[in-house]
Amino acid sequence: MITESQATPRTAHAAIGVFGGTFDPIHFGHLRLAETLADSLQLSEVRFVPSGTPPHRAVPRTAAQHRLHMAERAVAGNPRFCVDAREVTRSGLSYTVDTLAALRSEQGDATPIWLLLGADAFAGLTAWHDWQRLFALANLAVAARAGEMPALDTLPASLRDEVSGRLQGAGAAGAVRFCAMTPLAISATAIRAACEHGESVRYLLPDTVLHYINEQKLYTHG
Ligand code: ATP
Repeated sequence: MITESQATPRTAHAAIGVFGGTFDPIHFGHLRLAETLADSLQLSEVRFVPSGTPPHRAVPRTAAQHRLHMAERAVAGNPRFCVDAREVTRSGLSYTVDTLAALRSEQGDATPIWLLLGADAFAGLTAWHDWQRLFALANLAVAARAGEMPALDTLPASLRDEVSGRLQGAGAAGAVRFCAMTPLAISATAIRAACEHGESVRYLLPDTVLHYINEQKLYTHG
């Protein structure tokens, strides 16, 4: 686990990925997205950032500490992956723009930072706090979640306008890339529902996460 105070500056060209989510629970869709984009973008590191109090959606039903522990178990053994706990330890709402601003100041202006997103999260970007500033702080990499790239003309006009000039070239921040990934129609919502109904969720998420869910009796009632 990396905390804010332990985070170390990296060399100028070691691109890093930042992947935020509620991770309630983390599953193979998340891990596969991170692995695919780490390869496509040649990232030296992907930081999974579990959200504390997410501003855009209902409060997660699972305590942040549990979601953090599940993420730590899920990334163990992958040398490129780590968990960044800063949104869980920060008080108040979790804004991605604040996380990226903090990382940018730790890493310096030359380090490419890539914010990793599923296509559904990207399509809702204009609802995010200070969303246009995200492009000043990081590049955005969007993975197709259900096997389909979002057609630019289906995006809100303000997002389409923001993105259209950013599809070529990439520096430390400001570029947008759409990347293909093997579609995995796994969702945390469906995993929680299956657990509530006593159905197996094995092979949808790492065994280490499944053991934690069972030990802690997460998602067992309504
Ligand atoms: P929920 O079902 O509770 O909404 P989720 O499974 O969608 O959860 P989140 O934590 O909300 O997971 O998502 C974090 C990020 O992971 C988002 O950018 C989302 O688009 C992406 N993501 C989630 N599931 C998948 C999947 N199966 N394939 C690719 N990307 C995914």
